[in-house]
Amino acid sequence: MKTTGKKSFSIHFWKSISSLIFQILLISLFIQTPASSQIEGRKTIKIPDILGYQTLKCDFHIHTVFSDGEVWPHVRAEEIWLEGLDAFSITDHIEYLPHKSDLQIDFNRSFELAEQRARELDLIIIKGAEITREMPPGHFNSLFLTDVSALDQPEVAQAFEASVQQEAFIFWNHPGWRQPNEVPIWYDEHTQLYQQKIMQGIEVVNYKSYYPLAFQWALEKKLTIICNSDIHSPIQMAYDLAHGEHRPMTLVFSSERSAAGIKAALINRRTVAYFNDLLIGEEKYLKALFEASVTVLNPEITFSQAKWQPLFIKNNSEIPFKLVRLSEPEPPFQSPPELTLEPERTMRFPVEGKTDGLTGDKTLTLKYRVENLLIAPEQGLPVEFKIKAIFE
Ligand code: ZN
Repeated sequence: MKTTGKKSFSIHFWKSISSLIFQILLISLFIQTPASSQIEGRKTIKIPDILGYQTLKCDFHIHTVFSDGEVWPHVRAEEIWLEGLDAFSITDHIEYLPHKSDLQIDFNRSFELAEQRARELDLIIIKGAEITREMPPGHFNSLFLTDVSALDQPEVAQAFEASVQQEAFIFWNHPGWRQPNEVPIWYDEHTQLYQQKIMQGIEVVNYKSYYPLAFQWALEKKLTIICNSDIHSPIQMAYDLAHGEHRPMTLVFSSERSAAGIKAALINRRTVAYFNDLLIGEEKYLKALFEASVTVLNPEITFSQAKWQPLFIKNNSEIPFKLVRLSEPEPPFQSPPELTLEPERTMRFPVEGKTDGLTGDKTLTLKYRVENLLIAPEQGLPVEFKIKAIFE
């Protein structure tokens, strides 16, 4: 009886254990693990330095609870650090303060509250503000301010004047916002601001919008190309950072990692917009970024028995380059109509060289256009690969 009792106890014990395990498994099916949305540690944004400059990743348009944002200022520094950016500017509205009955508004306070955390995290923080007026002229960011409260003026011209007195860098924000089809309209007021050299730059990208016409104006009028998040919510509510999304940012080619270096680069228009997989900017910068990112690993190819040979191209950057063939290579060669250089990978493409009766060396020139590197609206960067083909 004792033995049976032990046995039935142990059977009962194992039954309850297995039923417990089953229940745990069942419950776990219904519980979403939070791990997928949590990120720890700072990301490295893999975009190379070029032309002797450091490529600094910057966001010059950010809101906090001190205007209509939903985030306390120092959290903005944490977000910037996590995403791997180098520099940021908190640009709360001067004229739009929906939280003023809950919060004592001091125009310099959001910067002060973010500054210490930015310094601890080795980030560059730039004091800024958003002049927020009806269109025209619309909204403008003033950067490198010393006293934001001086911009609180009855007339917009006085707000610009106060910015100019502080030697601010001023750019036009989201020019297509609230316009039909988001197409920007250039008013007489913009001509004035442009001719007086008050407006020095323009947002070609703001939040989730890209304005091709603003890009065209930037090229024609030599305005600095700017790309910002204009983030109001916590950043992870707008961009799925855990799955590779990133905020829009301005790539600034700076001689040093400092606010002064960034200011000089902005004045001299050394910038490129980085928006989703798009890089938008002047050809010389996009060409340099492409060349610093991409390497042909076998620039000499020997064609002997097999007429198809692999071409190995390595992409060190985090940007996928989407190439479309501009023209077919000269006979006896053939190359694929499209090449996608996946980020941080080496890709292998077949190149054909008919060997019939050929001996010696030939130069194979592959001509492509990078569709996601825009040197003008809807115009991709042309690139060439020169390969030495050896026939045996
Ligand atoms: Zn804004």
